[in-house]
Amino acid sequence: MVNPTSGYNPQQCLESYLARALQRIGANEEMNHLLQASYREIKFELPLVRENGSLAVFHGYRVQHHRSRGPFKGGIRYRPHVDWEQFRALASIMTWKTALVDIPFGGAKGGIDCDPNTLTPLELETLSKRFMIKLGPLVGPDRDIPAPGMGTDEQIMAWLYDAYSQGHGDEPAVVTGKPLGLGGSYGRTEATGRGLALVTAWVMQARGLPLEGATVAIQGFGNVGSHIARFLAEKGAKVVAISDIRGGLYKGDGLDIKNLIASKIAAGKSVSVTELDVKGESISNEELLTLDVDILIPAAIEGVLHESNVDQVKARLIVEGANLPTTCGAAEVFKDRGIPVVPDILANAGGVTVSYFEWAQNLQRYRWELETVDQRLERTLKKAWEKVRKRAAEDNLSYREAAYVIATKRVKRAIELRGF
Ligand code: GLU
Repeated sequence: MVNPTSGYNPQQCLESYLARALQRIGANEEMNHLLQASYREIKFELPLVRENGSLAVFHGYRVQHHRSRGPFKGGIRYRPHVDWEQFRALASIMTWKTALVDIPFGGAKGGIDCDPNTLTPLELETLSKRFMIKLGPLVGPDRDIPAPGMGTDEQIMAWLYDAYSQGHGDEPAVVTGKPLGLGGSYGRTEATGRGLALVTAWVMQARGLPLEGATVAIQGFGNVGSHIARFLAEKGAKVVAISDIRGGLYKGDGLDIKNLIASKIAAGKSVSVTELDVKGESISNEELLTLDVDILIPAAIEGVLHESNVDQVKARLIVEGANLPTTCGAAEVFKDRGIPVVPDILANAGGVTVSYFEWAQNLQRYRWELETVDQRLERTLKKAWEKVRKRAAEDNLSYREAAYVIATKRVKRAIELRGF
């Protein structure tokens, strides 16, 4: 369980969002079952002889949720504590995300129950390659395409690509989020952050609120959080707080994001933002979530906004940078309190959208310019946002409810077109 203090079961929450959307689109019980259940779930042993000679045994997971709109697609997470509920919910989220932004994929998620920070580079490479080899025939450019997630990066994607290509011929389209020097796409690394900033700007505009000067608190300062901070600061917003797992920094008149990012890069991955030589007061993650700001962006992990802290949240708008950061109980409270929440499947869809572009480029064996990637990303997200906005307004739904109605309709239609 990701957030034991809140008793959060992400899968139950997702089921409740889905059940309501399916009722709204008039899906029958069989369709309901088809769209809720995973298509396939696998778990396997991953033994590793460590460099010091000891034997460690890890486990590999992959949940493939749905594929009627195209091959399974979704990230790989390396984390010491993983479980089926987490992977099932995250795999299902990918089905609805890819449907909402209308890219030709289904949904999946997987990973290894390891702490990548405690493994040597050689151990990490061996484990990653063994994972991919064991996934074997279940993955492939037209079957299931992994990508980075929490605890994984472009180096790990390069190893997965290499492992698959032994025996299949060179196949870069088997995995996305690869390094630029190995079939990666321009703009993929910052795509999630760029998308979040774009969507945030559109939502603020639609609600008649200026982004210029708006105060923002961002939980998480990894690849996603740091890029959102940068893009929002470039758009004139005032990022007053950021954090990572060890704690956060606050500065009422706005943090110097450029300097923060530069210091973080210089200090290295394992150094916390709280240890950087940057101006700001230190705050805890809990304090960050309840700051009096215009925009709150939880971009770290599932379940951080829950029944016990939801009443203390003072933000005027919540934009979900992470997947499932709001529990369904908290989502209800935000709805009652009139605080809009931009759901993960729209807000952070920039990452998988540029993954789609990377896959398409790999299949074409032709690289697009950064401008092309950015333009197409903006167009894809804008279309999805306009649909959500319209549906929410017409049917008096929350953004999340509207997004699920649109996504489930598309998937249901694909199933019907294919036939059973
Ligand atoms: N892990 C990211 C997500 O949750 C990206 C997945 C992908 O690019 O396939 O959207």
